[in-house]
Amino acid sequence: MNYLVAGGAGFIGSNLCGKLLKNGHRVTCLDNLRTGSLDNVSDFIDNNNFTFVNHDVRSPYANDEQFDRVFNLACPASPVQYQVNPIDTMVVNIIGTKNMLDVARDCNAVFVQASTSEIYGEPMIHPQTEDYRGNVNPIGPRACYDEGKRGAEALCFDYLRKHGVKIKVARLFNTYGPNMMADDGRVISNFIVQALDGKKLTINGNGFQTRCFCYVYDMVEALILLSESGDNFNGPVNLGNPSECTILDLASLVVQKIDPSLSVSHMPLPQDDPTRRKPSIELAQRVLRWTPETDLSSGLDKTIAFFKRRLA
Ligand code: NAD
Ligand code: UDP
Repeated sequence: MNYLVAGGAGFIGSNLCGKLLKNGHRVTCLDNLRTGSLDNVSDFIDNNNFTFVNHDVRSPYANDEQFDRVFNLACPASPVQYQVNPIDTMVVNIIGTKNMLDVARDCNAVFVQASTSEIYGEPMIHPQTEDYRGNVNPIGPRACYDEGKRGAEALCFDYLRKHGVKIKVARLFNTYGPNMMADDGRVISNFIVQALDGKKLTINGNGFQTRCFCYVYDMVEALILLSESGDNFNGPVNLGNPSECTILDLASLVVQKIDPSLSVSHMPLPQDDPTRRKPSIELAQRVLRWTPETDLSSGLDKTIAFFKRRLA
């Protein structure tokens, strides 16, 4: 099969490209390296089945080949990174998604959209099911991402209704693992890099807020299974590990694994930072026959080993 992966030099995208190549497919990666890196694809950059194209998805992509499946992951995912230029973030989500949907329409390809748990905002129900419509602040500092991703979902379903594109919308919950950038700004990479540097771990607010962390290999499996699902399954479908953890507990675990003498410091909680978040994955379990297998402790071990190698 011939795959297009937009955002393929990023954290999840590079893991996805690696897995697709391992499965014997051809992969074209489109990326402008805004938050990704060629280091992430260095293991297979010379593979004849892999092509890297430095392209900004905010411009149309004039593809001269036929793709069977298109994955759209092109968008900064870390709150720190997507707020650097919020206007770009909104544009990449709307115009970038439209440009990638056009490629899928022209190729009659399956289109997988990397949406997010952020479309639930500060959720009023727990755990979050796909039919929950969310509680997003439409004018806050996270809106460029949250509303951008909501707009992108709407576009996907309009392309399904108007053009019959075989769309599949995945709502990814917090994912971590090898190929996160050291300066990405998300909590797991921050904590590991701080601990390896012998620094205090920065906890935003009181640390009682929760997240559920999914190891990237599990996430990549789910995205591939979703791309292979029947034409009548469009999602949206939650993808994540339902095991819930406070940020304080996460900090303790990282400190325990790297250096139990380290302490933490408390920083102000950013505006609109969700208090609790946990996916219901019943739909993914039923339709994709997928359940994440990696627990937080063993996933952290692998991620710590990755950062030790990369920082060295
Ligand atoms: P990432 O920032 O590591 O990767 C995003 C990739 O997109 C990078 O390689 C970046 O250079 C590229 N990109 C950004 N703007 C671009 C543009 N205009 N043109 C071309 N390429 C561009 O993020 P990630 O964690 O790998 O996330 C991948 C996708 O999954 C994103 O769409 C994100 O919203 C979604 N997602 C991720 C998580 C998570 O926890 N990692 C959770 C929910 C949703
Ligand atoms: N966080 C933290 N310290 C950090 C980075 C993040 O306490 O150095 C908190 C952040 O405020 C949030 C949680 O960890 O409550 C997850 O943040 P992240 O940026 O990883 O993802 P998101 O907020 O998008 O879920």
